[in-house]
Amino acid sequence: MSDHLALDTGPKKTPSTSFSSWGAVQTVISVAVIMASLLTLWTPANLFSNRRVGELLVSVQATRQAPSEEPLTPQPTSPPEKIKIGIVAGHSGKEGDPGAVCEDGLREVDVNLQIAALVRQQLMDLGYEVDLLEEFDRRLAGYQAAALVSIHNDSCTYYEDATGFKVAAAVETAYPEKAQRLTNCLVVRYQETTNMRYHSNTTTRDMTEYHTFNEVNASTPAAIIETGFLNLDREILTQQPKLVAQGIASGILCFLNNESISSPDLLSQ
Ligand SMILES: [Zn+2]
Repeated sequence: MSDHLALDTGPKKTPSTSFSSWGAVQTVISVAVIMASLLTLWTPANLFSNRRVGELLVSVQATRQAPSEEPLTPQPTSPPEKIKIGIVAGHSGKEGDPGAVCEDGLREVDVNLQIAALVRQQLMDLGYEVDLLEEFDRRLAGYQAAALVSIHNDSCTYYEDATGFKVAAAVETAYPEKAQRLTNCLVVRYQETTNMRYHSNTTTRDMTEYHTFNEVNASTPAAIIETGFLNLDREILTQQPKLVAQGIASGILCFLNNESISSPDLLSQ
């Protein structure tokens, strides 16, 4: 529309000071052409687009005029609280208490610590909050968590049948069925994962009356696992600690996720 642009200057030139008939004619022609141009522009489509522009302007104004009730940056929302799990590395944190010791110097405390650290890492990778606790950790007093598992290993003394794992639940607890379920989950998943033998009939009083169980909050389901014997199970315990840890982590997840477990034979041994 180059002609339209050229004609835009017309009215400005309209001389009010030097009125002449030619000027009047020129003005009339100019006005007529502008009116014609406006009429051709006045199509429904243009009306629509003009209205859209008008709406946009109104909305921009409204945005500007709206009172700033909401802050420019969104309020920081606290992330959903993580589920907390406690893992005790048996005998750790106390000089002079290495637990069982083999003739060649392999110490239970070191095996426990390695496995416990791996369990912690595996559960943290899944988004859980995990405390790695020492045997006599101060945090254990009234400790509250979705589950607490203490990791130990058995004697390095050789004798026949000294192979396999044991699991025991806390006896003194507010919800014994929960502790029992944690125990069952650990037994079934640890066995499935490691293929090790479950020693059900050799669970000692030391395990069921384990000192840690008396310290923690009564609502915290707690269990102790002896992941193997340092003598006959030495290979899997020291060469495949990740697998051993996976067995424990799977047991804890089984409990937390309320997974169904169906190995009655294993549990009634
Ligand atoms: Zn121990």
